[in-house]
Amino acid sequence: METSCIFCGIAFGKIPAEIVKDSGALVVFKDIKPKAPVHLLIVPKKHVESVAELAEEDRGLISDMVYMAKGIASDQGLPGYQLSINVGRAGGQMVNHLHMHLLGGWEEPGN
Ligand code: AMP
Ligand code: ZN
Repeated sequence: METSCIFCGIAFGKIPAEIVKDSGALVVFKDIKPKAPVHLLIVPKKHVESVAELAEEDRGLISDMVYMAKGIASDQGLPGYQLSINVGRAGGQMVNHLHMHLLGGWEEPGN
């Protein structure tokens, strides 16, 4: 854990957040500024700065994060959702601890 990292702080219970799930290796919590009716962040407890810094030994984190997203979306009854990862400041990443956004909860489009 990096003591100056906000998501490490949340993952290790030092900084409050609305935790939805803690699997041991991953933590899921509500985004503080939601951009959709449901906006969750899926975060590994291991401090990895971004996809660009992902070591080969950590590549399984990404599939774990996607699989966690699938389970959470199912638990929350989301019929569809978006998963996204911003990479680097130029890619819109503001928090330098790997995380995946799960966005959903919109009305389904009519036919
Ligand atoms: P990104 O731009 O991909 O780095 O996304 C970072 C996200 O973290 C943004 O959507 C922020 O609203 C969210 N965020 C920042 N600080 C907190 C916090 N303390 N608790 C929950 N979400 C946060
Ligand atoms: Zn961190």
